[in-house]
Amino acid sequence: MKGIIPYNGFIKVIEKPIPEIQSNRDAIVKVTRSAICTSDFHIINNAAPRYIPNTILGHEFTGEVVEIGSDVKKLKTGDRVAANCITFCGECYFCRHGFINNCMKGGWELGCRIDGGQAEYVRVPYADMGLNKIPDNLSYDNALFVGDILSSGYFAAEEVKTDDVVAVIGAGPVGLCAMMCAKYLGAKKIIAIDIDNNRLKFAKQFADYTINPQIENIEQTVQEITKYGADYVIEAAGGNDTFETAWRIARANAIVFIVAMYEKEQLLPLDRMYGKNLTFKTGGVDAVHCDKLLQLISDGKISTDFLISQSFPFEQVEEAYKEFQKKETYKVILEL
Ligand SMILES: [Zn+2]
Ligand SMILES: [Zn+2]
Repeated sequence: MKGIIPYNGFIKVIEKPIPEIQSNRDAIVKVTRSAICTSDFHIINNAAPRYIPNTILGHEFTGEVVEIGSDVKKLKTGDRVAANCITFCGECYFCRHGFINNCMKGGWELGCRIDGGQAEYVRVPYADMGLNKIPDNLSYDNALFVGDILSSGYFAAEEVKTDDVVAVIGAGPVGLCAMMCAKYLGAKKIIAIDIDNNRLKFAKQFADYTINPQIENIEQTVQEITKYGADYVIEAAGGNDTFETAWRIARANAIVFIVAMYEKEQLLPLDRMYGKNLTFKTGGVDAVHCDKLLQLISDGKISTDFLISQSFPFEQVEEAYKEFQKKETYKVILEL
């Protein structure tokens, strides 16, 4: 079968044998859709130390179950499934407490340490945990982002309360998912902050206000909109000064949720924020709500279809990667 691996700062197509069941809890999935993610470029650019060389990329995919191990209970062959980008056992201390991305036997495995979903077939360990059945009324496209970026956005917005004014820094795919989820969870107003006007324009489908910090003073504008500062801040940009922006635009006693990934250390100037009584929450994808999110999509409450900028047949994977690299797109997907 064909699969994609990093090669010389880009990718290449290789041949590998179709994966086989290795443990009773495994399933083999025939891939139908696979997305390209910024994390794939972290691997390509040698910025993911977890990565095992020559592992097939891809941690955001859907497919059909074609084979199951003898201990797989929830799934059967023929099931249409969406993958969770986190592999987790469901039994260890962290899994039992719902902190699945800290699973002691898992983590980011697929497309990083185990051959992933940018291939014709993929072996998914702990299949009952890591695969979610797609409701009948949803297509593969509808369900594709549930186990990675939608989970990240939902995780970031999870504690939004009714009538909160939510400021989201970064209007990329995760920021947009966070805005959508915040709105679903009852946010009164959404403020989208980004340096790219096209992204801000796109964010208007969820945002009541948009701020471009290269044109306006963010703190002042947030103050004018909210009077006291934002009730809830989601930092999904990971820029040089976006962490500082996040706590500065938060009102006293706000929640500041950091879902961004930084390339450098960040300063937490407690002396300057004394008395602001902020709650900081950190973390990336916490894909513990996949079934619930699929249900919300099925019920028409949320949808990630707007994120699909372009689809390519799997044979044109190089073009797909080049298109994603331009950064003018949101998500580029491969159809198998
Ligand atoms: Zn990803
Ligand atoms: Zn576990």
